[in-house]
Amino acid sequence: MMNYDIAVIGGGIAGYCAAIRSQQAGKKTVLISQGQSALHFSSGSIDVLGRLPTGEPVNDPFAAISRLRYDSLGCSPLLKQPASGSAIPHPYVKVGHSAVKQSLLWFKEMLAAELPLFHQPDDANHWRITPFGTLKATWLSQPYVYQHRSQTNFREIVVVALAGYRDFQPQILKDNLARVADFAGIPIRIATIHLPSVAHDQRHPCERRSLDIAHLLQPESAWSAFCEQLTQMTQADDLVILPAVVGHGNGIETLARLQQATQRQFHEVPTMPPSLMGIRLETALHRIFIQAGGVHLKGDQVLRGQFDGARLTEIYTHHLSDIPIRAGHYIMATGSYFSQGLQASRQAIKEPVFGLDVAQTIPRTQWGGQDFIARQPHPFMTFGVSTNSHLHPSYCGKTIGNLYCCGAMLAGYDPVFEGSGGGVAIATAYHAIEQCLSHDACPETGQEVLL
Ligand SMILES: Cc1cc2nc3c(=O)[nH]c(=O)nc-3n(C[C@H](O)[C@H](O)[C@H](O)COP(=O)(O)OP(=O)(O)OC[C@H]3O[C@@H](n4cnc5c(N)ncnc54)[C@H](O)[C@@H]3O)c2cc1C
Repeated sequence: MMNYDIAVIGGGIAGYCAAIRSQQAGKKTVLISQGQSALHFSSGSIDVLGRLPTGEPVNDPFAAISRLRYDSLGCSPLLKQPASGSAIPHPYVKVGHSAVKQSLLWFKEMLAAELPLFHQPDDANHWRITPFGTLKATWLSQPYVYQHRSQTNFREIVVVALAGYRDFQPQILKDNLARVADFAGIPIRIATIHLPSVAHDQRHPCERRSLDIAHLLQPESAWSAFCEQLTQMTQADDLVILPAVVGHGNGIETLARLQQATQRQFHEVPTMPPSLMGIRLETALHRIFIQAGGVHLKGDQVLRGQFDGARLTEIYTHHLSDIPIRAGHYIMATGSYFSQGLQASRQAIKEPVFGLDVAQTIPRTQWGGQDFIARQPHPFMTFGVSTNSHLHPSYCGKTIGNLYCCGAMLAGYDPVFEGSGGGVAIATAYHAIEQCLSHDACPETGQEVLL
């Protein structure tokens, strides 16, 4: 038997945040994670709220969270109506406006030594140029992401292409960026770099991915050729858009070296998966958790749990077989459909580990909107595990008082439509651990709160 204060299930951004916050608070913590998280597909920037569920664009995400609260309390088009007819508040409403901001500032501070992240001084969203040449609102970005607001004074925008690399399409980026009004009048050009090591590599270009390029750039000769060509092809007052192919595990140091060698201003864009910018974030979170003394059962899967009334008493994993893991509190952060935290069949959506209650609309014909790219969230994206305001889920209608759900598995929001995925994951994980801590500090009050 293995005993912990807090057991966290799922190693995406929500699971890592919960595990780190818990371990840093002195709780003996185990993190059990099955496989790759959505971070391997992400930009590595943290979206807090890019637009409201109505589609209205958001400039200041924290101010807009207050509007979610107002709307979800009663007057609004933002409400989701599950089958039961009761409203499901947005997860930010459950966490509360000021705690959302507190959690994001904690996240930034916690990562500062491993991976510095930046936001605008006035706390507004900034625009990030995507690999498709569009602009996406986000809040917290990595050091070599250009944070666009409105004014630009670049001489030229240079999109760097790498000969023999498959996962970045510079022409699409260039063509779309040329249509963005903020960049009208600024010449946009593609500059193709030829790495000598790529020419000697026997593999077909279609097999070469970002990690391969990062490795090919490691020898000093390849690195020098790369820096030299970049310097020749660009000028100091250009914005140089570079696919995220440099550095694996040490990307920020490698980019700092690149800037030092070339004296250029870079904008790093994520590529098709594996996304080095997202992996960079995961690597940093992993390191922080381990350095804090946490136990990580990586590559293991939680299969089921045992309930005693309104409490989860133990969980069982694939590798530990019939040896239970026991904890005072359990945090569940197993993600959405993407990570199999939710599973959809033709009839219904289910949470596969414990069979927790899921908010969803039936029949299936109402799961999606008419258009794939829609002006409103698709209903199925807002389905998920329903919780009370303390993030406790229910099992067969009974609230489980020592289990908390967070991140993409939650009902009541669409992370993709709203651009709120990273923010909700961090805020709900932080909120869940705060409640575990206050429950342990004052069990009597905690118990009252749960009831
Ligand atoms: C393609 C894509 C790109 C995105 N890009 C961005 C972005 O750039 N910025 C942003 O802010 N948001 C982005 N999002 C949204 C955001 O990434 C997600 O909302 C957020 O990362 C979800 O984090 P999570 O920890 O809740 O879940 P996940 O990242 O899905 O992690 C869940 C983890 O739990 C594990 N797991 C599942 N079941 C079990 C089990 N039984 N036992 C053990 N482990 C289990 C999974 O393997 C996975 O590792 C993106 C989402 C997608 C799908």
